[in-house]
Amino acid sequence: MRVRVDEIPESGRFLHFHWGQNRLKQYMQPDDPFAMELVRPVNVDLEIHKRPDHIRIIGSIESILRLTCHRCLDDFQWLLREQVDVFLVEDKNLPQDEEKELEVDELEYEFFDGEIIELDQLVAEQIFLALPYKVLCSESCKGLCQNCGANLNQAACSCRRSTKTSPFAGLEQMKEQLVR
Ligand SMILES: [Zn+2]
Ligand SMILES: [Zn+2]
Repeated sequence: MRVRVDEIPESGRFLHFHWGQNRLKQYMQPDDPFAMELVRPVNVDLEIHKRPDHIRIIGSIESILRLTCHRCLDDFQWLLREQVDVFLVEDKNLPQDEEKELEVDELEYEFFDGEIIELDQLVAEQIFLALPYKVLCSESCKGLCQNCGANLNQAACSCRRSTKTSPFAGLEQMKEQLVR
């Protein structure tokens, strides 16, 4: 979706729309490391306000995603709830001095041609920004056994138990033999 700046009324433009899996896929890499799937459509609510030297977009982007845990490789549901607050600044209004550049880093600024807002691009960026840095089903995910591949969140595997006990069991036996 593209929005023309000269078509935004003074009172602002209010948009509400949904994104399905196919829409999201257009912005995903073919080998998407998140294995991201929508459990329900992305709900997008945005207000676009025109200001003399910038455009401000506020609102929310919400959905439930299915992601693959990087540690145990299990699927889990993840709540996407991103508050949007973006300032769009025309390229030619780029801040010049260093002090202003610092401010730019702190706020979420983006640059555009001053005429057309690529809203789909913005929605996709916000979704990817919201994704966790480490995709884990839980902070305490135990992952997979490196030996047998069992998911240790579900049950402790037997190879784990035997490696833990065997060296000591052997020592105990030797000790018993020596004492005799
Ligand atoms: Zn996990
Ligand atoms: Zn194991």
